[in-house]
Amino acid sequence: MSNSTSRRVRTRYAPSPTGRQHVGGIRSALFAWLWARHNEGDFLLRIEDTDQTRFREDALQDLFESMAWLGLAYDEGPDGPDAPPNDFFQTQRGPRYQEVAEELVERGAAYYCFCSEARLAELRERQQARKQPTGYDGHCRDLSAETVAERLATFEAEGKRPVVRFKVPRDGSTTVPDAVRGEWTIENKQIEDMILLKSDGLPTYHLGHLVDDHDMRITHPMRGVEYVPTAPLHVMIHEALGWELPTYVHLPLVLNPTGEGKMSKRKQGLDEAAGEQMMRELHAERLIPDALFAYQERNANWGLLTMVHEFREAGFLPEAMLNYLALLGWSVGADKDIATVEEMIQLFDIHNIKKSPSAFDYNKLEYLNGWYIRQLPPKVLATKLLPYLEAAGLEVDHDKLLDVLPLVHERMKLLSEAPELLDFFLGEAPLPDPADLPGKKMDNAQTRQALQAAHQALANSAWTLEGIEATMRETATAQGLKAGQLFQPVRVAITGRKFAPGIFETVYHIGRERVLERLERAVGLLAA
Ligand code: GLU
Ligand code: ZN
Repeated sequence: MSNSTSRRVRTRYAPSPTGRQHVGGIRSALFAWLWARHNEGDFLLRIEDTDQTRFREDALQDLFESMAWLGLAYDEGPDGPDAPPNDFFQTQRGPRYQEVAEELVERGAAYYCFCSEARLAELRERQQARKQPTGYDGHCRDLSAETVAERLATFEAEGKRPVVRFKVPRDGSTTVPDAVRGEWTIENKQIEDMILLKSDGLPTYHLGHLVDDHDMRITHPMRGVEYVPTAPLHVMIHEALGWELPTYVHLPLVLNPTGEGKMSKRKQGLDEAAGEQMMRELHAERLIPDALFAYQERNANWGLLTMVHEFREAGFLPEAMLNYLALLGWSVGADKDIATVEEMIQLFDIHNIKKSPSAFDYNKLEYLNGWYIRQLPPKVLATKLLPYLEAAGLEVDHDKLLDVLPLVHERMKLLSEAPELLDFFLGEAPLPDPADLPGKKMDNAQTRQALQAAHQALANSAWTLEGIEATMRETATAQGLKAGQLFQPVRVAITGRKFAPGIFETVYHIGRERVLERLERAVGLLAA
């Protein structure tokens, strides 16, 4: 057995276009990309589209967008500059897989199987009834050359094709070179004679990925642990063809935040109401952080976020996403959570990938996102917030936005929070809930009076931070109120919200005219 340490490192991401990109898949892409970059090798993108019944139209565009958004550039791929695109779609390479399948048959390492669907179904039922493991029984494995020739002729006359199965050696054992688990060995008799080529002439995963990885000179196929059970089959096929073996990298499962079960949108069979219930419980258990929960609540988007586009829409930054995904099954170092892409490239090592599954930690992701938001220069952040503000119907004056951004920059966790944090500066403030207006231990009448006094004072105040502060403190004293008893009703009146930046800055940046209008409006809401 040979291994690939001396070859130029080449990795690939090979999704099937059966839906939009899931964080689990994109984590494989990230690890493959990091390993290629770490070794100054190549990273490829390939489309495994042989299961045409599961093809989804929107999958490819979403794939390209997700890769671009995350900055996972590939050196070769279906839309690359000098790539013949057909080489990167398996459906375009049918003849190549047929050629390899035939070669395996000629070498006696694979055989035609003529079994009908009906026979296979019957076989399965019989095995189940006897509580035996289900699987192909080798019925066509040892047909004589004459019988094979006859059946091939009959099939051809009927316009049908037999499938090709791998002839797993009945004895001996197979060793899998695996960077995560170390080399491991299994008895061959535990593996069944799997189909390599389907009756439509297209390969199954087992043959398709293997021929492509060989032709594309992939040194480290990275894929989920669900491929561990069939990895010995893949090794045997390599051996039968005399091809050099790659080093497999089987990535651990990503679990739901509770640590139970594979990460999926929502628990099987939950309807909208039950999805909401589940999210409320996860939030109460602190498994869903506040800003993310507020986003989901605002949008009635119930269920766990699992798709790349969902994270993008919620306002996660690609750099936070990459940093977080790298922690899922790998570690940038003891007590170290934050690593820029450059650091990750430098530190990444497939030999430090964990075997044990990790639960998806939305708290850590949100924390990292806040951290990366804080690193952004205000101008860059402003550009990123524009689409969210515009989608909320706010007409944004860029200078104004840059003026007020420092007031919220520190505590922003998601880009999608922007309208909520900034609308009262940039446009109209939402109508306050009258119940939120009164300050501590105040009734409506006192609140009205306080707001009226603030109105009168601010109408005549100097419009500087110091001037506003002096005016508001004097007004509180004159009204016999504690500062907070005046400030809170004013805050709610002029922002429509219970939480906002410091009151003097808020008053100052909203501007005199609109502050006065909103104070008046709030007084009206408290009509005696
Ligand atoms: N098409 C397979 C999948 O999407 C690829 C697995 C692999 O990377 O080999 O799961
Ligand atoms: Zn058969």
